[in-house]
Amino acid sequence: MDHLARSRLNQFTAVRLDRDVERRDDPEWVAASLARPGTRFVPLWRSRSLLEHGIDDTIAIYLSLAELTEPDRIQPPTLLGNDGVRDYYAVSVTDAQKDDIHIHFPNARFTDLRRASINMAAKHAGILAYAKALHYWQHRHAFCGVCGHPNRLRSAGHRMACSNEECARETFPRIDPAIIVLVTHEDACLLGHNANWPPKIFSTLAGFVEPGESLEDAVVREVYEEAQVRLTDIRYVSSQPWPFPASAMCGFYAEAQNRNSGVSEEVVETRWFTVETLSRAVLDNEVRLSPPVSIAFRLLADWFRNHGGGDLEDLVRRQRR
Ligand SMILES: [Zn+2]
Repeated sequence: MDHLARSRLNQFTAVRLDRDVERRDDPEWVAASLARPGTRFVPLWRSRSLLEHGIDDTIAIYLSLAELTEPDRIQPPTLLGNDGVRDYYAVSVTDAQKDDIHIHFPNARFTDLRRASINMAAKHAGILAYAKALHYWQHRHAFCGVCGHPNRLRSAGHRMACSNEECARETFPRIDPAIIVLVTHEDACLLGHNANWPPKIFSTLAGFVEPGESLEDAVVREVYEEAQVRLTDIRYVSSQPWPFPASAMCGFYAEAQNRNSGVSEEVVETRWFTVETLSRAVLDNEVRLSPPVSIAFRLLADWFRNHGGGDLEDLVRRQRR
């Protein structure tokens, strides 16, 4: 399997929208697209997505123009793209608009996408994650970082320009690159418990890439900082957009020199697991893993299957609660 195929297995990557890049700066095309009855809007309220929770699945709720009262004239909707049937836009909603939406959709709630996406169709989880990432960037860059004047959206939401004509500084969507790595040594893998996590949760090591580093440099530094483990072999596996709030996760496997691992202020416990000890720890509810939508879980699940452990998601479902 090549890297593209691997990455496409990760949650939030299944957005097969034509992003209509060449249309973003064509105001007439955008106006006609916005007015089309089939066009749908992804509403975001305080970075939360509108979802309806069914018995077995979670459904993304999209709005038509008619269901959107008083659209914002200053910060217009952001063009996401076309899925072959219709155009999609992201739109920020105010508290008043939110109340109107709840009248139209009494069973829907504005919810944090991270956990809710576990039971969502991949295409829609991807569209909502893409919308959330742009929304976060727009709201965190409401003012120019140079002169402090308000920024205005341009290019159908994919560019911002300072409203001070003398400055006119442009900004583009920002993503923070981060590395995430499953460290292995022979038949065992290393998981850590972060000081900020609830008890029992163990996961792969991760951290942000710093200026002046390659992705691999960041893997070497983070693993040593967090667990004092030296690596011998680093292999890139796949990547995932992770809009919680604004990361691009780059996933790696790395082989350790030995199983001497330590702790740090951030990672307060590290443990080596074989397939057998991990299975037992999960079933006995001694260890809890990150949600299956995360690349952390995907890296671990692939390692688990390749070492004869079977389906890790199935094992987690059988965990004693
Ligand atoms: Zn400015």
